[in-house]
Amino acid sequence: MFNADKARGWWARLRRRLFLPDTRASLDLRNNEARYRSVIAALEEGIFITDADGTIQSCNASAERILQLGSAQIIGLSPAQYIASLVNQDGEPLKLDDSAIIRTLRTGKPQSNTIVGVRRDDGSALWLSLNTQPLTHPGGVVASFFDISDYRRALKAESEQRALAEALRDTAAALTSTLNQNEVLDRILHTVSRLVDHDTAEVMLIENGRARVVRMLDRTDDGSGCRHHALDLPVDAFPTFQYMMRTGLPIVVGCSEAAQDWVEIDEARWVRSYLGAPVRLDGRVIGFLNVNSAIPGAFGEADVPKIAAFADQAAIALRNAGLFAELEARVDARTTELRLERQLLQAILDGNGEGIVYSEGRRILYVNKAMAQLTGYTADELIGQPTALLHDAEPAGAESIFNTDVAGLVPGQVWRDEIRLRRKDGRELIAGLTLSCLGATEAGQMRCVILVRDISREKALQEQKSRFVAHASHELRTPLTNLMTRLYLLRRMPERLNEHLDVLDDVSNRMRRLVEDLLDLSRFERGAIDLHRERIALQALIDHVVRLQDEEARFKAITVQTSLPEMPLYVDADRERMHQVLTNLLTNAINYTPPGGEITVSVSHEQSEGRRRACIVVQDDGPGIDPAYLSDIFLPFYRVMGDNQGSGLGLSIAKELIELHGGCIGVESTPGRGSRFLICLDLA
Ligand code: ADP
Repeated sequence: MFNADKARGWWARLRRRLFLPDTRASLDLRNNEARYRSVIAALEEGIFITDADGTIQSCNASAERILQLGSAQIIGLSPAQYIASLVNQDGEPLKLDDSAIIRTLRTGKPQSNTIVGVRRDDGSALWLSLNTQPLTHPGGVVASFFDISDYRRALKAESEQRALAEALRDTAAALTSTLNQNEVLDRILHTVSRLVDHDTAEVMLIENGRARVVRMLDRTDDGSGCRHHALDLPVDAFPTFQYMMRTGLPIVVGCSEAAQDWVEIDEARWVRSYLGAPVRLDGRVIGFLNVNSAIPGAFGEADVPKIAAFADQAAIALRNAGLFAELEARVDARTTELRLERQLLQAILDGNGEGIVYSEGRRILYVNKAMAQLTGYTADELIGQPTALLHDAEPAGAESIFNTDVAGLVPGQVWRDEIRLRRKDGRELIAGLTLSCLGATEAGQMRCVILVRDISREKALQEQKSRFVAHASHELRTPLTNLMTRLYLLRRMPERLNEHLDVLDDVSNRMRRLVEDLLDLSRFERGAIDLHRERIALQALIDHVVRLQDEEARFKAITVQTSLPEMPLYVDADRERMHQVLTNLLTNAINYTPPGGEITVSVSHEQSEGRRRACIVVQDDGPGIDPAYLSDIFLPFYRVMGDNQGSGLGLSIAKELIELHGGCIGVESTPGRGSRFLICLDLA
C-alpha cells in the first residue's frame, strides 16, 4: 500500500515551503494532490520517492507488488542498502555512482530507461526499467519502474535462439563448403563454444562398443582438458552413454560429484558438470557430442537443444564425410583401374615393333617408342608437328596418305601406302603405312591412327631375290647355250668327238657346281644346312687344299706357299665345308692373280676377348679389290665389274659357312697390291 501518512506529511512540507496560503486555491491544490495520490496508487508502475540522501521515503502498491516486499521493508532503505541488492545489465553488482537515483540526486537530471536487476534471495533476478525525476523542493528523487523480467527473458531467449540459428547456419555452410570431416567437426565444436560456456567439447564415435574421441576442443587454461584426446571408453561402462544410446536423448549432469550415475575416470577427474547429446545417423546412435566444465552446474536445460542441434549437424558431417570417403574410394579404384588400363595400353603400344602415330587433323598427337626409334626424333619433338614432316623425303607433289586431304577420309576405312621417310639424321628409309580413320573430332578434325613399318630391308631383300633369280637364270643359260652349241657341233663334226666331250665335260661340271652352289644358298636361307663337326687339324686341311690346287697354280705359273706352325691347331668344324671354303679362297686367288704371282696361305693363333682363335689368311699379290666393292663381294652373285670368271656365289657361301661355324670372314685389299682374306675360328 502507498504510505498515505508519509506522503501526506511530505506534501504538507512541500506546501509549507511554497508558502501557499490556505485559501480556495490551496483547497483546489489539496484536491489535486488527493487525485495525484490516488493516480499514483493506481499506477502499474512502481514508484519510490526518496529524500535528498536517496533514502526511500515512500512507495506505491505496485512497487510492493513488483518487488514482492512490504512497504515497511522498502521505506527507510538507504541507497547503500538497496543498491547492494542491485546488479547491472551484465549481472555485475551495481556501483553506487552508477545508480540512476544517485545520479539524479547529484546532477539534478532525470535518468530514463535505466535497466537494473534486483537479486532475489533465491538467486533469481528481477529486471526493472527505471526512470528518475529530481525533486527540487524538497530535495529527492521520484523513481518509477516496471518489471521487464519477462521481456528480458523473451529478449534473451530470442537472442539465444538467433545465436543458435546463426551458429547452425554457419555450420551448415561449413557442411556444404567442405567434405573434410575434421574441418567440419572442428567448426561445430568452435560454434558450440560460442553458445555454451564450457572447458572442453568433444565428438566421440562409437566403434565396436567403444566411444573414441575423434575431435576435441580444449579451452581449459592449464590444458588439463587435452587428455580427453585419448579417450576411448567402453560404452557399457558409462551410464550417461548408455542413457543416450537407449533413449536417443541428451543428458545433463549438473554436478558430477553428486550424480550417482557419474563414473570417474583419470582423464576427466576435473569435470564437474557434463552435457552430452547423442550423434544419430539413420536412427542409430553412432557417437556423442560432449561438453564438460570444471564448474558445477555450468549447464542447464536451456543448453540441451543447442547441443542436440549440433549433434545432428555432426551426424550430417559424418555422413557426408562417409559418402565422400566412399566416393573417393570409388574414384580411386576407378583411377587405379584406368591407370592400369593405360599402363597396359602404353606397354602394348611401346612394345609394338611398328611405329604408331595418332593424329588429329594432320597434326601428330601421339607417337609410340618404336616410332621415335624409327625416325630418330624424340616423342616430344614429333608431338604437335604436322604429319607432313614424315612425308618430307618424298618428291614435291608426290601423293601419299600423309598429304591427302584428310577431309576426304572415310571413318572406318583403312588405307595402305609406301613412302620414303626421312629420319632426323637425314637418312631415308622406306616405310609401309597403314592408316585407319577413326572419325572426326567435335571440331571436325579427322582422327587417324597410322601404323608405320620400316620395310627398307624387306624391299632390299625383295630386290636381292629378283636380282638373284635373274642372275641364276643368266648363270644357267650361259653353260646351257654352251652345251647346246657343243651338241650341234658334235653332230656336224663327229670326228672331233674327244674335243667336244672335253668341253661338254667342263660345261656340265660348271653347271653342277652352279646348281650345287644355288642349292647351298637356298639351304642357308631355309636354315637347312647341317654341319658334321669333328676335331680337325687346320695345318693338315690347308696342306690338302693347297696340294689339290697345286697343278692349277703351276699351270698359271703362280707360286703357292704355306706358313703353318708346327704345333697343330685344332678346330671343331665340318671337314668338307671347311675344305669348300678354303678351296674357294685359294681358287679365287689363283684365278684373279696374274701369272707369275705369289700366294701365301698361313695359319696362326691369337687370343682376343678371352677366346683362343685360329686365323687363316689367304694372301695374294693380284690386282686387289676397289674399297668401294669390298663390302659387296660377300653378296650372292656379286662380281666386281669386269670379272666374269666365276658365278659370284663362292664368297657368299663361304661367309654363310664360316658364320655357321661361329667364326668370321673378312677381306683387306689395296688395289694393285693384292688381297688378303682372313678367317677366324675358335680353337677346339
Ligand atoms: P666368283 O665365283 O665370281 O669368284 P666369289 O663370290 O668367289 O665369286 O667372288 C666375288 C667377287 O670378288 C669376284 O667376282 C671377284 O670380283 C672378287 N674377288 C674374289 N677374290 C678375289 C681376289 N683374290 N682378288 C681380286 N678379286 C677377288
